[in-house]
Amino acid sequence: MHHTNTSIVNKKVYIPYMSDAAYALSAAFRRCGVDSEVMDESDESTLDFGLKFTNGNECMPCFVTTGDIVKVIEKPDFDAKKSVFFMPTSKGPCKFGQYNRLHELVLDNLGYNEVEFLVPSAAKSYTDFIGDKATVFRRAAWQGCVAVDTLEKALYRVRPYETTKGDTAAVYKECVKLVEDAVELGKDIFYTMEVCAKKFEKIPKKDEERPLIGIVGEIFLRLNKFTNNFTAEKVEALGGEVSVVPTYKWITFTTYEYTVNSFRNKKVKDMLLSFLVNYYQKKDETGMFKPFKKLLRNHKETNIKDILSYSKKYLDLSLGGEAILTVGESVDFAKKGYSGVISIHPFHCMPGSIVQIVSKKFREDLNNFPWINLWFDGQESTNLMLRLEAFMHQAKRWNSRGVKNESFEAA
Ligand code: SF4
Repeated sequence: MHHTNTSIVNKKVYIPYMSDAAYALSAAFRRCGVDSEVMDESDESTLDFGLKFTNGNECMPCFVTTGDIVKVIEKPDFDAKKSVFFMPTSKGPCKFGQYNRLHELVLDNLGYNEVEFLVPSAAKSYTDFIGDKATVFRRAAWQGCVAVDTLEKALYRVRPYETTKGDTAAVYKECVKLVEDAVELGKDIFYTMEVCAKKFEKIPKKDEERPLIGIVGEIFLRLNKFTNNFTAEKVEALGGEVSVVPTYKWITFTTYEYTVNSFRNKKVKDMLLSFLVNYYQKKDETGMFKPFKKLLRNHKETNIKDILSYSKKYLDLSLGGEAILTVGESVDFAKKGYSGVISIHPFHCMPGSIVQIVSKKFREDLNNFPWINLWFDGQESTNLMLRLEAFMHQAKRWNSRGVKNESFEAA
């Protein structure tokens, strides 16, 4: 029998790797005295395990996380009694909410019925498993996540222009480690970000014109490089500069929903709490971004309210989650003067199909703004590069006739 959310005392919490923000989350657990480790990044063996233990009809993020869990438990030093897998979930029609049920079944079949899952419940604000350290945990996890996401933005902003290949990736890696340590040891994270910004600024760069490409879509696939066949790197190789909607955008979305519901239900306590959470989230985001302001052209994340106001014209907001955010973020990139958008979806993804259907309409409204829907099923697609080449060709044309990008000096 599997248990969810039993005690995590003396256990190791395994965090699935979706993006590098996982390292911050793991560090937040350690800050609260809980042993924690990020699971290995997905690779070919992930897909082999995933396909072996699922029937292949699940959403891709689901069989990828299944494969990654099996990879951990097959390691010789794995101790089922001392391990817990962290698995976020969400309410609503999306299959995301069912992942951990499937994971449990797979582990049962493998004979690991003692393994436990930690399924955070937003409603209980983490107090259910981390007790009186919940406040420290939430803030540390949030701050770490925003910090790592900001570093990733800097990586995408600088890497295409570096004069020596590999410089930016090395600085980025070093900075993620600095943030991880700051979160774990409770050091001043804002100061850490100042140190990191200086390191990115010092990287020698060339000044060249590149079209800006926004990457939107289903959260797991757009962020997980292996499962999206390294789309960002491919776009850079084809002459573009990317901006990927970051991990923490989902957290700001759930905060927004919490706020709306608390007002709708007229719950004063929730209203006050949501006011506080909004206040700290804004404050942290601004503080983290500040040292990077010049480098990142001051393209801060547009707030959720505005993102949703863009998608309202095309979709009923009650659809919730992925589809409305993907459409809104796309319009946002167009408004910011980007030259194209890549929308990334897993096969069998319902929100993805909805986006594909409405994308024709809003592209028309945006003068046929360059746009591409990419679907991934874990197979290396031979025509991905060809499609990206054609898309980048359009994006370059769009860029040359329209908004000019600022150079590093002018930023
Ligand atoms: S968004 Fe798509 S891929 Fe993700 S859980 Fe929902 S249906 Fe599956």
